[in-house]
Amino acid sequence: MTVAGGAASRMFRPRGVGEAVEMLAVARESGDVVALLSGGTDLVPALRSGERVADAVVALRRVLELRVRGAGADSLTIGAGVTYTDLVGWSLAPGLARAARVVGSAQIRNTGTVGGALGSARPAGDLLTYLTAADAEVLTASPRGLRRRPLERFLADPLAADSLITAVRLARPGGPQVYVKIGGRQAAYPAIVSCALVVDRVRHRVACAIGGVGHLPARMGGAESYAVGEVDWTTGTIPAPAVRRFGDLVVEAVAGIGPALPVRPGESADYRWHAAGVLAGRALARCLHPRTDRDGAS
Ligand SMILES: Cc1cc2nc3c(=O)[nH]c(=O)nc-3n(C[C@H](O)[C@H](O)[C@H](O)COP(=O)(O)OP(=O)(O)OC[C@H]3O[C@@H](n4cnc5c(N)ncnc54)[C@H](O)[C@@H]3O)c2cc1C
Repeated sequence: MTVAGGAASRMFRPRGVGEAVEMLAVARESGDVVALLSGGTDLVPALRSGERVADAVVALRRVLELRVRGAGADSLTIGAGVTYTDLVGWSLAPGLARAARVVGSAQIRNTGTVGGALGSARPAGDLLTYLTAADAEVLTASPRGLRRRPLERFLADPLAADSLITAVRLARPGGPQVYVKIGGRQAAYPAIVSCALVVDRVRHRVACAIGGVGHLPARMGGAESYAVGEVDWTTGTIPAPAVRRFGDLVVEAVAGIGPALPVRPGESADYRWHAAGVLAGRALARCLHPRTDRDGAS
């Protein structure tokens, strides 16, 4: 294949994960720079512009086993080839469905995949922010076998050139979860700041991830612990002042990360931090009904 811009000269089209791993190994042995292609929404523009260069492309579209999603007793497994559109109506994972629904345009949702979202690891990637809050694990395949790692460890270690992502796994939701974002233009653009909030009413946990304030979405550990202590787990409610305090703690935490990302003209790091606090408070209030003193007395 020759992508405009002259990037890749060889195209492999495996039909299974094993075959894809073999093709990666063969291409690697011959010294080729290989790129994995899923939906191509990020990779194709990068090859065209010359930002990425590849001698060979391994296209994963025909690998049907990557396009499966499933539910076990305790976990959900989502194949790397599952598209945003496949996730939009998935009632088993409402936060994930919501994150998928607000991605780009219909074309991007029809084409972009879970594996591509992890491969690109955008700072405010909608799926990445949600998966960070959901404590997801990433499953990979290579000539050395299958591997399963927490998302954080996966992101810290670049994927080996002979490996591919096969799926992500997360716990079945144990309570309400929401995903909210602020984008440059509503819907059709990646987020400037995003927030995923996942509540587990069984294990009494609150998880909050903020995208767009550092090079990767970040967990808000201090704010999470504070919220856990304030929730009335019997009723699933939280005092209204605690929601405001939660937002303030998120602002403090993201300001501590520092303005690592370039801000666009007319925007400031302060704006992002403020937006993160507003989104986090809004997300918490949607998951856990805010209680005023009057509610408590009645
Ligand atoms: C106009 C536009 C709007 C967008 N809007 C949004 C938005 O609102 N929210 C958002 O989050 N993103 C958005 N995106 C980004 C993009 O759609 C996502 O990052 C998408 O999930 C990428 O998936 P893909 O299947 O197209 O990946 P590809 O482009 O095929 O690949 C992306 C990267 O991942 C690697 N890769 C692909 N599959 C695998 C695999 N199985 N294992 C290992 N590596 C792999 C590739 O080599 C490449 O480096 C937008 C993009 C565009 C062009």
